Amino acid sequence: MSEIRLRNTLGRRIEVFEPVKSPLVNMYVCGPTPYDYTHIGHARTFVAFDGIKRYLSLRGYSVFHVQNITDIDDKIINRSRERGIDWRNLVQEYINDYMDMLTTLNIQIDIHPRVTEHIDDIIEFVQGLIEKGYAYVAESGSVYFEVDKYPDYGRLSGRASKNLWGQEEEHAHEKKKPYDFALWKAAKPGEPSWQSPWGPGRPGWHIECSVMSTKYTGPSLDIHGGAADLIFPHHENERAQSEALLGHKPWVKYWLHTGYLTIEGEKMSKSLGNIISVKDAVREWGPGPLRLWLLSGHYRTQLEYSDQSLQQSKRLYNRFREVVQELHKRLEKQEPTYVLKPSELDLLDSLRKIQRRWHAEMSNDFNFAGAIREVWEFTNLYYKELSSIESNTIILYAYKIGQEMNKVYAVADDVYQAAERAVPEVTEHLVDLIVSVRTELRKNKMYDLADTIRAKLLELGIQLKDYKDRTEWSWK
Ligand SMILES: [Zn+2]
Repeated sequence: MSEIRLRNTLGRRIEVFEPVKSPLVNMYVCGPTPYDYTHIGHARTFVAFDGIKRYLSLRGYSVFHVQNITDIDDKIINRSRERGIDWRNLVQEYINDYMDMLTTLNIQIDIHPRVTEHIDDIIEFVQGLIEKGYAYVAESGSVYFEVDKYPDYGRLSGRASKNLWGQEEEHAHEKKKPYDFALWKAAKPGEPSWQSPWGPGRPGWHIECSVMSTKYTGPSLDIHGGAADLIFPHHENERAQSEALLGHKPWVKYWLHTGYLTIEGEKMSKSLGNIISVKDAVREWGPGPLRLWLLSGHYRTQLEYSDQSLQQSKRLYNRFREVVQELHKRLEKQEPTYVLKPSELDLLDSLRKIQRRWHAEMSNDFNFAGAIREVWEFTNLYYKELSSIESNTIILYAYKIGQEMNKVYAVADDVYQAAERAVPEVTEHLVDLIVSVRTELRKNKMYDLADTIRAKLLELGIQLKDYKDRTEWSWK
């Protein structure tokens, strides 16, 4: 199968994917700041990385996926003041919303570290940077990263000139250089704060991701993901901090960034008032069609939200599920024959071409847009030719291709799970039947035959336990 290639934001090149400790893959994605409802722009990033992870898993990698929650931040403090509620209650409300979104859109993440649960780790990391000479404590008790000490600064974002390194931070007067950024922010009156060697304060935004990724994935990451607007300053700063403390390069092997989601050509944003929450989009389109739509454009390109494109996804969602259900029904009715008629060879070839092209698109920097075309082809082929074919050898193969595709799209899990459950259920009913016949034999003192049945069942991995009036069975 073709090797997986991906475009690394660092260096802006297509590279062959070779994880540091294959087949294990460490992936860290910047998660939400819970100060408002999750909108479809966030969901785009989260679903894209879920799709990437699922494809890597399909290809035999074991992916450990960490996605943080920034549960303390200026935006949270400001919003809780606006609403007149405790910041912790605000955070919990929106974390619940975020978690609901993950379940609704079938996004699987291994660990969700929160900043406020890692304050000690953050202090230790900052202390390490001070000791190594990369950071300094300012008059206010804030700690800053000294950008000039890290010569590779600007390379990730492609900003070669220092004039482009503005950090938009307060207390500019106490910084050595305007582009130095805060690792630890001294507390202002009335703000939530934690004790530290530099006085009460709270972590800066960038440091948390360096700390939590290192804590859970060790000193090197295979994939660091996030939305494109995080490249600068967030990821540039993360990279500087981590490589400065860890003392090795690269800290992250592949940087991957998702493109914007647009509505009528405009980026979704608060100031434009064109934000669509995941809840509203799910209400309108349903979770499956929304997920499929989010996986229908290349993760790096802009994705335009329109009724037309969502209607298309909804159509494909219904078709794909119907095809898989129909294939399953056929397989239920007829045992596999494992033979192919010569006249069916062309059809097998068509199916395999779709499968090969789908993998080729997915291996090519996870080109979801190209891959989704092959899902359309797959459903077209079913309606045009597969639905009327006699041989169920091809039906079984098509069913498996649908299963592979669904490993990434995850919009027909219920269909495949129901199919898996159906087989053991039938088996269990059959064992029950045999055991009840054997009980009758024992009642009629036909012990030899009863013993033969017991021995034969044992060969099949089924154990019987005889009681006075009944027999119980279990898998060995
Ligand atoms: Zn981050």
